[in-house]
This record gives sequence, C-alpha cells and structure tokens, in this order.
Amino acid sequence: MSKTGRVAVLRDYGGEFELREYPVPDPEPGAILVRLTRAGVCGSDLHIWRGEMKDVYGSPPQDLTFGHEMCGRIERLGAGVTADALGQPLREGDRIAWLYVFPCGRCRVCLRDEMANCPRKLRANRTAGTPPYFNNAYGDYYYLRPNHFVFRIPDEVTDDVAAPANCALSQVLYGLTKAGLRQGDTLVVQGAGGLGLNAIAVARDMGADRIIAIDGVAGRLALAREFGADDTLDVSQLSTPERRIDAVRSLTGGFGADVVVDVVGYPDVIPEGLRMLRSGGIYLEIGNIAPGNFFSYDATALVRGGARLIAMANYSPWALGEALALLRRSRGRFPFEKIMSHVFPLERISDAFRQAEWKGAGAGRISRAAISMS
Ligand SMILES: [Zn+2]
Ligand SMILES: [Zn+2]
Repeated sequence: MSKTGRVAVLRDYGGEFELREYPVPDPEPGAILVRLTRAGVCGSDLHIWRGEMKDVYGSPPQDLTFGHEMCGRIERLGAGVTADALGQPLREGDRIAWLYVFPCGRCRVCLRDEMANCPRKLRANRTAGTPPYFNNAYGDYYYLRPNHFVFRIPDEVTDDVAAPANCALSQVLYGLTKAGLRQGDTLVVQGAGGLGLNAIAVARDMGADRIIAIDGVAGRLALAREFGADDTLDVSQLSTPERRIDAVRSLTGGFGADVVVDVVGYPDVIPEGLRMLRSGGIYLEIGNIAPGNFFSYDATALVRGGARLIAMANYSPWALGEALALLRRSRGRFPFEKIMSHVFPLERISDAFRQAEWKGAGAGRISRAAISMS
C-alpha cells in the first residue's frame, strides 16, 4: 500500500482547516520530494485566511491549500538531481530551502536578470487534491517540480530560523540591494514586524550607518533595537506624521534618509515615508499586498525631491542563497530565533491562525506562529 501524507485545507475564510490525506508521489527526473519540517504563518497568509485576497484565491475558497514559508529534509531525489543551485552536493536527508514561486527562466524579463519580475512565473497549485498533491507549506510533504532553485541550509541555521528565510529575509535582502543601499547610508524602516526586523539585520550587515525603526508596538520596537536599530520612533508617542517626519529630519542632520522602506502594509504610511527621504533618496515599497491600497501624493514634490520609488513583490533566486549565507555568518549577532514566537503542530494549524490573528481579540498575544510537522 502506498504512503500518504497530510495537507491542510481551508474551506471557509476565517474558519477551520481540515487535514486530508493524499498519496505521496515519487519524484520524476529532476524533481525532489521534501519532507516538510517547519512552515511559517506570514502576514500574507493571514490576509488569505481572512478572505482579503479573494481576487486571487477565489470566493468562496475551493478546497484551498496555501502557505509559502517552509523548509524540510530531502525525502527522495529525482533522477539526475545531484546539487543545489549553488553547486553544493545534495543527498537524501539534507535540509533545504527553496523559492515559493517559479520564474520561467525563458523570457525577455528573466533574460534581463530580473527573474523576480518574471511575468510568466508559476505559482503553487492551490486546490487540494490536484496531483502531485503537495504544493504548499501546510502539509507533510512538498513536491518540488524539476529544475527548481533549491538551497542547502547551512548546519548552523536551525529550521525555525530557516523556514521564513524564503519570504521576509530574501525579500528585504533583494529589495535593499535593488534600492542600492550602501555602506554609510541612513535607512528608515516603517514597521518593525517580521519584514522590518529582517530589514534591520540586512541593512546592518550591508553596512548602513544609521537605522531608524518606526512602529506603534513597544515589544516590536524593543526587538528592533535588539536587531540593531540605532533609533526607534514610537507612533503612540509621536502621534502625527509631522512629528515623525521632524524626528527623522533631526536624526539625519536635517537631510532626511537615503532609503526609506515600507513594510507596514497600510498605504497611509507611504506619503509620510516619502517626506522622510533626503533629496534624491529612494523609497522602497514592499508592504502593500492586498488589493485596493491607494495613496495620493504631490507629483511635483516627487520631481523636486528627485525621489525614486521602487516596489517589489518577489525576489530573484540569488537572494535566497544570500539570505541563508547571512543567517550562517551572523549567527548570534541578530536574534532571528525571536521572530518566531510560537510553534504549533500541524494538527493545531487552526489554533495557530486564530492566535496569530492580530486584527481581533488575539491582537498582540503572538508575534509570529510556526507550524511544525516533525
Ligand atoms: Zn511570507
Ligand atoms: Zn520569465
């Protein structure tokens, strides 16, 4: 009798997950079957669970499976797979991380070294029961289609720290690199949640001189300082945009920041952040991912300020390799293990989502949840 594995399926937005069993496939040549060990509950997973992304995930959800932050051990290598994307040898039992989207590598945009922006990138199949069945993070297995970008996890990096690296850390590492952050720069980080804390670590590692973090939750600001933020601005004390903009100006000798990154997720912070830029500064927009997030700004102020605004929702494969290298070399320097505050076994995934929910009664109880399969 063939082996089966569990997949968490969501039938109603905001509701319970159901665990279903599906047959575990054999990997075809070039593919890899992974036994998942950890998965993260990301802010975007909460958007999906609440039903805020129905435009993409359907209404009502049809046997929806999702989850994109994960890592695991190689259960079986398909024929011909001998090395990861960096040429390091791969063996069954090795721990690996991988990209959750699949750039085509065969289009005009990919060929211009912009796989992050590939317009033909494939995403995981989100309907449960579709072979090869294991396409997402909340389940026992993951079927990696042939020729995917896979990276061995350094021995020094734990599963809890590695699982979200393919999302937040890779995203801000790619973003700050594309924004051209340089040694000696001043960076403002709007929002000290998962993305924001990762951005602080990356900027410190890249040689930023001064990092200013803004948030309204005291615990997050404390963590921001542990990650290396030089200054923290508490929104609950500096209650207007004007006061926060003035604070950034005075911390930067009146010039404003070289780079401002938005990882809040509400568009209201964008005009404020644009006004925190120095002349010719760069605004990096990552936070807004749910539809309908509009902002308005004076185009003349953009022109006169020589501002550059770049936005991104994905990253190129190299960023995940660099993210894992950063985790290895900076072990002990940044408290990455503190981002993941609670771990739930897969059979309690519904609890994990309810408790990670920050919009309702559970707000503030939990900073970030992980799901454990091992
Ligand atoms: Zn994520
Ligand atoms: Zn492409």
